[in-house]
Amino acid sequence: MVSTLRASLGLCLGLAAFSLVAQPRPGFDPANLDTSVKPCDDFYAYANGGWLKTHSIPADKARYGGFEELIDGNRAILQKILRETSAKTTWTKGSLEQKVGDFYASGMDEATIERRGLSPLKPILDTIDGLKDAKQLPALLAKLHNQGLSGGFVFYVRQDAKASTHYLGYLNQGGTGLPDRDYYLKDDARSRDIRAKYEVHIAKMLELAGDSPELARVRAKLVMDLETRMAQAQWTRVELRNPQKTYNKRALDQLATEAPGFDWNGYFTARGLKQADLNLSQPSFFQAFGRLASEVTAPQWRTYLRWHVLSATANLLPKAFGDEAFAFHGKVLNGTPEQEPRAKRIEAATDGMLGDALGQLYVKVAFPPEAKVRVLDMIENIRVALRERITNLDWMGAETKLQAIKKLNAITVKIGYPDKWKTYAFDLKRDDYFGNARRAAAFRIQENLKKLGKPIDRTEWNWSAPTVNASYNPTMNDITFPAGILQPPFFDARADDAVNYGAIGFVIGHEITHGFDDSGSQYDAEGNLKNWWTEADKKAYESRTDLVVKQYDAYEPIKGEHVNGKLTLGENIADIGGLKIAFAAYQNSLKGKPVPAPIDGFTGPQRFFFGAATVWRNHIREAALSLRLKTDPHSPGRERVNGPLSNLPEFYEAFGCTDGDVMKRDAKVRPAIW
Ligand SMILES: [Zn+2]
Repeated sequence: MVSTLRASLGLCLGLAAFSLVAQPRPGFDPANLDTSVKPCDDFYAYANGGWLKTHSIPADKARYGGFEELIDGNRAILQKILRETSAKTTWTKGSLEQKVGDFYASGMDEATIERRGLSPLKPILDTIDGLKDAKQLPALLAKLHNQGLSGGFVFYVRQDAKASTHYLGYLNQGGTGLPDRDYYLKDDARSRDIRAKYEVHIAKMLELAGDSPELARVRAKLVMDLETRMAQAQWTRVELRNPQKTYNKRALDQLATEAPGFDWNGYFTARGLKQADLNLSQPSFFQAFGRLASEVTAPQWRTYLRWHVLSATANLLPKAFGDEAFAFHGKVLNGTPEQEPRAKRIEAATDGMLGDALGQLYVKVAFPPEAKVRVLDMIENIRVALRERITNLDWMGAETKLQAIKKLNAITVKIGYPDKWKTYAFDLKRDDYFGNARRAAAFRIQENLKKLGKPIDRTEWNWSAPTVNASYNPTMNDITFPAGILQPPFFDARADDAVNYGAIGFVIGHEITHGFDDSGSQYDAEGNLKNWWTEADKKAYESRTDLVVKQYDAYEPIKGEHVNGKLTLGENIADIGGLKIAFAAYQNSLKGKPVPAPIDGFTGPQRFFFGAATVWRNHIREAALSLRLKTDPHSPGRERVNGPLSNLPEFYEAFGCTDGDVMKRDAKVRPAIW
C-alpha cells in the first residue's frame, strides 16, 4: 500500500509514504482517548489522555506533541536531503545542491572547527577591542549590526504600518540576553535562580574565550549590570502588542533631541543609510539607551559586546562553546537534559540560513499537490463561514460590518511555498562553517536594508517551506500555510472532513481570525493601521474581549504561575473565533448531503473536536512551560483546547455537556465574539 501511494503521487521520497508509517490510522485513533475522564470535565485529557500516557518527551526536547511529531517527520526528510547532497562534491558551483550540501558539510566538519579554535572570531573581537571611547560606539554598533550581530537595539526594514505600500526603517528595543525583561527585574525564586545561573554562564563563556576565572567573574557582573539597565528601560510584552503605541514615525534628525547621547546620524551613515524617516518603536527605551551610550564606560561596552558576539556565535565555534550555550539555554531555561545530535543542529541551521534553497529540494519530494487543492477549498469555505457570522452578528453595526467584510474578502492566501524563491548570492565554502554562517547573516541584513525606497514585494514569504507553522500578516493582510504543516495530524488527505476541519480547519480559522483580533482589527483591508470601527462597535467588541482576558488570566498551569490574559489575548481570540468558524464551515460542507455515519462510534461533530484537541496535545517540561508563560503570546496546549471548547455551545451539544459541567462555561462570562 505504501508503494502504491508513492507511485500514484509520483514521489520518490514521499511524505505521504512517511506519514503512513507515522500515522497508521487515517484521522483520529480512538486509542488516543482516556475514557476514564469525562469529556465535559476536561476534554483535553479525555481526547488526548491515551496518547499522553504512551508518549513522553525525548531527552533532547523541551516539549513533545502535535507540532513536534510533524517537525520530526519533516526533519527526517531534510536530514536525508542533506546527507545525500553533502556526500557529493561534484555539484555545479552555485547550484542549490552545492550550496546546501557545502553549508551542511562545513557544519559537520568538527575537526576543522576545533582546529581553528577562536581564530575565525578574532577579527570581530579585535574590532570590539578597538573601542577606546564611548563616542566610537555608534560606528562599532553599525559594523556589528551590518554583520547580523546584536547589541543594544535592533534596526530593520519592514512595511510602514500606516502606509502599507511603502517600506520604513524600524528601531526596536533590545540588548538583553535573557528571554524577557522579567528575568532581570522580578524577585521570585525562579527568576533569581536563573539570573544567578546566567551570570555564571557569561563568566564561563568569557573564560573559554581566554579570560582568567577572576576577570571573567568581574566582567560577567559588568554585563549583568548593563543588561539590567537595558531591561529596566524595555517595554513589557503586553505593551509591545499595542500597534498604535509602538508607531512613532520620526525624521532622523529628531533623534538627536529625542534620544540624545548617541550619534544616530553617525550610526546610520556607518550602516550606509541616509533615509529621512524611521519608526521609533519604543521612544522611552531609546531615551534611556542614549543616556547609557554616553554614561557607560568604554571598557564596560567592550565587555558587553564581547559577551554578545560570543553568545551569538557559540554554535559556530569549537564544541566547548556550543556545549556551554546548551548548558544554559537548553538545560537551565528549558529543562532539556540532552543536546540534539550535531547532524540535527546543523540541519536546523541550514534551514535557518538557506531556507529557500533547502525548501526547494524539500518540496520536490514532500509536497503532494492535492493537499494544496483541498486546503484551498477549506480556506474558502471558512472565509464564507466567517462572512456569514459577521453578517449575522447582533453586536456590530452595519457600517462596521461592511468594512469587516471588505477586509475579510481582501485576505490573500499563500500556500505550500513561494512563487519566487530567495537566492543566496554569497560564497559558501565546504571548509568554513563560521564564515558561511556569518556571510549568510550579513547577506540577509543587506537584503533587508536594500528594500528601503523600493516597492513592496507582496510575494515574499517569512517561513521556509518545511516549517510547521502558519501565520497572518496584518500589514499584508495575508495568511500563509507552508508545505510543512499540511500533513497529519494537521491535515490528512485520507481522513474524513470532520477531523480535517477540526485540525487544519481550526488552524485556518485561527489565522483568518487574527485579522480581527484585538491587534489585527486595528489594520484595514489594505494593511494600514487605520481605524474602521464605529466607536460604539469598538466598545461592544472590547467588552467581549475583556471576558477573554479574564477567562485566561484564571488559568494556572504551574502553581503560582498564571497565563497572562493580556499577553495571550490575540491568540486566544483567534483560537475561540477560529474554532467557531471552522465548525460552521464543517456544517456548511454537509449541506445537501446525508449525515455521515459515525466512525468508531463517534459522530462527525465529535470527531471534529477530536481533530481540534489532537493538534495542541503535548508534554512540556516545567522550565519550558514557565519560560513560555512569560514570553509566548500563545496559551499552553491544554488551555488552547479547553479554553475555546468550553465557550462553544456546538461543543456542549456534541458531547451532551450540561450546566455545572467544567467544560460548559456560564453564558454570562462566555465571550461570544464571532
Ligand atoms: Zn496565532
